[in-house]
Amino acid sequence: MLARVPAGLELCHELGLEHDLVAPASDQPYVWTDRLRPLPPRLMAGVPDGSQAVIGSGILSPAGLARAGLDLIVPARPPTHDVSIGWLVRRRLGHQVLERLIDPLLGGIHAGNCDELSVRATAPQLEAALKARRSLVRGLRALSGGSLPAPTGPTFLTLSDGLQEMVRTLRERLSTVEFRTGSELQSLDGLPDGGVRLTLAGGEILSADHVILAVPAFAAAAVLGEACPAAATELEQIPYASVATIALAYPVEAFDRPLAGSGFLVTRDPRRTITACTWSSAKWAHLAGDTVLLKCSAGHAGNRAALDLDDERLLRAVRADLAQAMSLRAEPLEQRVFRFERALPQYTVGHLERIARIEAELRRLPGVSFCGAAYRGVGVAACIRDGQVVADGVLAALPATSNSAASHRGSGLCSPV
Ligand SMILES: Cc1cc2nc3c(=O)[nH]c(=O)nc-3n(C[C@H](O)[C@H](O)[C@H](O)COP(=O)(O)OP(=O)(O)OC[C@H]3O[C@@H](n4cnc5c(N)ncnc54)[C@H](O)[C@@H]3O)c2cc1C
Repeated sequence: MLARVPAGLELCHELGLEHDLVAPASDQPYVWTDRLRPLPPRLMAGVPDGSQAVIGSGILSPAGLARAGLDLIVPARPPTHDVSIGWLVRRRLGHQVLERLIDPLLGGIHAGNCDELSVRATAPQLEAALKARRSLVRGLRALSGGSLPAPTGPTFLTLSDGLQEMVRTLRERLSTVEFRTGSELQSLDGLPDGGVRLTLAGGEILSADHVILAVPAFAAAAVLGEACPAAATELEQIPYASVATIALAYPVEAFDRPLAGSGFLVTRDPRRTITACTWSSAKWAHLAGDTVLLKCSAGHAGNRAALDLDDERLLRAVRADLAQAMSLRAEPLEQRVFRFERALPQYTVGHLERIARIEAELRRLPGVSFCGAAYRGVGVAACIRDGQVVADGVLAALPATSNSAASHRGSGLCSPV
């Protein structure tokens, strides 16, 4: 998880898991353009700093470098409305910077398309930079204090036994909370006293002082279809990308030399299946051992060709990519495919306005709030932050009697009817 969004780390500390936090052994990614090339140092949002490292990396052609340099000469004006990352970066730094440096990184994180992703929702630093200076690179440098951000710590952290330890420990600690997993919420209705009635898939009905919908946008839309159709219509509009991850284990002898780096990103090319490859056992020291572990990703917004392949064909396509990018032709010891349908929400242009409209509509249903990756930040740490902010707001607004019950961690919020 991202270390610079503090909510994730803070929760680990609160749960006593701070000693299990581990930082990557290597933070150096590569990008697969014509071949694997080290990604040069970056300013915020993946924008190259314009240094010798970019020139030396060979990622941009001389024409691409010259085009990027125009950002320092031709004055810019910040956009007056939300635009896509692609629109802004193409204008300031040219197509190559977008397609070879920024899209593999930002498009990779979101499994999205930079020509559709909203600047305001996914990379607000870009707009802030153009407000600070009339050059994107100079503006980003100014925002990061003059030059590259000082390396104050790792960008990512994980837990040595996996991030699920956070969920497991949290659940253990919340001993007074009644958990009901595998219970699908079908619909909810506002009650005249401001509470909410929930109907579960099996027909069971519960009543609650307040409900926080921490479900994907399309699931929230289905649940709210009758109680708040205008919000449901907006929620349905939030697109999702389906992705697969492919885990492979190889004997150490399959490689000429140890992998040095965290893995590689991939420039978009219809002949390629993978969108990224993490060298898991090189990136994380606690995963190093007798086998080399790789994790590839496939699938992105608007393109589910990889998802439509059966496991055997998908594995063949992934291994063909690895052979081309890394000259890796050995048989893996083990290989597994994991599929995530409609898993990554896309913050397309206008996302923030859409969320504001959903919030406005839901004010008509005072007992209902929402949080999660579809709305105010993707990623585990951002979801933890969003959940905490929304839960604190709900507790603060509940009448004193419910609130004191709620302060016993869930004992009074929801009851069978
Ligand atoms: C392949 C992949 C890799 C990722 N890697 C990273 C990473 O390295 N770092 C990082 O920070 N983030 C990563 N993410 C993103 C991160 O996992 C998500 O942003 C985060 O888990 C979203 O949390 P959430 O609670 O909003 O939604 P979810 O985790 O999707 O939880 C929603 C829950 O709602 C439940 N639900 C749905 N409908 C209903 C209903 N009607 N009634 C009851 N329950 C319902 C679902 O079963 C689910 O449990 C990754 C995502 C994917 C797909």
